[in-house]
Amino acid sequence: MLCGGIDLGGTKIEARCFGGPQADTLETNRIPTPQSSFEDLMDALLQQIAWLETQAPGLPVGIAVPGILDPVTGVNFASNIPATGHSVSHSLETALGRKVPVVNDCMAFAFSEADGGAGTEFHSVMGLVLGTGVGGGFCLGSELAHRHAGLAVEIGHVGMSARVLARHGLPLWNCGCGRVACTENYISGTGLARLAEWKLGKVVPANEIAGHSRAEEILEIWADLAAECLDTIQLLLDPDCIVIGGGVSNMPGISERLAAALEVLHLGNARIPAIRTARHGDSSGARGAALLARKAAAS
Ligand SMILES: [Zn+2]
Repeated sequence: MLCGGIDLGGTKIEARCFGGPQADTLETNRIPTPQSSFEDLMDALLQQIAWLETQAPGLPVGIAVPGILDPVTGVNFASNIPATGHSVSHSLETALGRKVPVVNDCMAFAFSEADGGAGTEFHSVMGLVLGTGVGGGFCLGSELAHRHAGLAVEIGHVGMSARVLARHGLPLWNCGCGRVACTENYISGTGLARLAEWKLGKVVPANEIAGHSRAEEILEIWADLAAECLDTIQLLLDPDCIVIGGGVSNMPGISERLAAALEVLHLGNARIPAIRTARHGDSSGARGAALLARKAAAS
């Protein structure tokens, strides 16, 4: 059965049509994200739904959105799209006369990797996206875990532990959320570049760090910080598997590096979770939303 997923991001709205037993991408269509108003944003979303309909009329379509999605009111809160205070799901239902599943993008990522992705063989799967920021989603038995307030696993805004900052003499960096020393400022792609700048005294773009002569020094500190984040995930959720996604996951050997760093930090004799890199990469947000829509249509 064909299904469609739309990944609504701060710079682009990407629609993908999926098909085949593994729900692989068949066609993709990208348009820029309007930042002018919620109405313009909805027009762009409807345009992408219409494009998906040209691939297969009536196919199930799901939308992955950034930020918080209140499960009671359906109202969105996001810093990078003009949807705060509005409901994407209610507006789509009014415009189309049918319900369209709308899900947080990190939750969609976790769902995609738990169903036909790197976490398929595991019962509990934490999806951890290390991109411009850091976010996560959690699946139990191939189902998205219900979230009381519509938060994804907002591990990126959990404070970095004092012990790891002290180990490396790192300062408390300000976070975009208005607080200090949130995890994402140290271990996201942006955080990695910031660490390199702090260590080397000059700007090195994140994608050039792996090839730098002092890469190992920087990546060791980064892995120690990231392992603290994985340790927090294990202490709170104890998942069977953590699937790493986002731009940082493209670094060669990242899952082995993180597993080795977590082996050093983990509590007592607790068995560490399997650490894998995403199988569906950039398509996982749209794919997760599409799979949710396909599931809803089949039930
Ligand atoms: Zn924060």
